[in-house]
Amino acid sequence: MSSRILILPVLLLWFPAPGAAQELDLAHYRLVDLTHAFNARTIYWPTSPSGFRLEQLHHGATADGYFYSANALCTPEHGGTHLDAPIHFGEGRLTAEQIPLQQLIAPAVVIDVSEKTARDPDYRLSRGDVQEFESRYGQIESGAIVLLRTGWSRYWPDRKTYLGDDTAGDASRLHFPSYGEAAARLLVQERKVAALGVDTASIDYGQSADFAVHRVAAEQNVPGFENLTELGALPERGALIIALPMKIEGGSGGPLRAIALVPAHR
Ligand SMILES: [Zn+2]
Repeated sequence: MSSRILILPVLLLWFPAPGAAQELDLAHYRLVDLTHAFNARTIYWPTSPSGFRLEQLHHGATADGYFYSANALCTPEHGGTHLDAPIHFGEGRLTAEQIPLQQLIAPAVVIDVSEKTARDPDYRLSRGDVQEFESRYGQIESGAIVLLRTGWSRYWPDRKTYLGDDTAGDASRLHFPSYGEAAARLLVQERKVAALGVDTASIDYGQSADFAVHRVAAEQNVPGFENLTELGALPERGALIIALPMKIEGGSGGPLRAIALVPAHR
């Protein structure tokens, strides 16, 4: 008797009803790369002791007559397009390899504040901005990835314009926009979003001294995606984000390859 009861749900899981199958046909999507390439000009935080280093191990013909190329790389975790794992600002919170894939692969909402940031490089996304977005595009669902578009990626890789200052070792004179604390609380604590992404160097604005947004996000195990690019190529809603960081065990972050799948117009 009990086996008959058990079999039916199992069959339903294996054979979804007609029309319910989730088939991902990439021909119906435009693929957008949200990632800056890593190279010698990649921007790191001013206090970072080093940047991206690629050391050539071999490039050319081998003694056995075939071509062979290989490099060694060395990079601080936090530079270029990268992940902030929750442990970056949250003791005991998730490290890079522990972040559930559901927080790295999710639908995006793109909030565009580029007009406001053009007038004020210290602009912070406000609670009102989020509410205004929601009044036009609907409430942000839990589990969504929020991408804040400031327009700052157009300055990449010019360190002085992108960060607002290029004094090595001094992070106190930076000027660039990002999330504000109240908006972050709304998104993280009330909307329960999966991740916060931005096209500037930090999910806190340049003049932040207390990294309030990082701490609000970390507290809820919400990762950050920083130094994204091409956010202008995304719709306010409808894109699927795949943001896969290097799986560094115990890592506080790391290099990130982020892409978007945007439904193509039929
Ligand atoms: Zn970071």
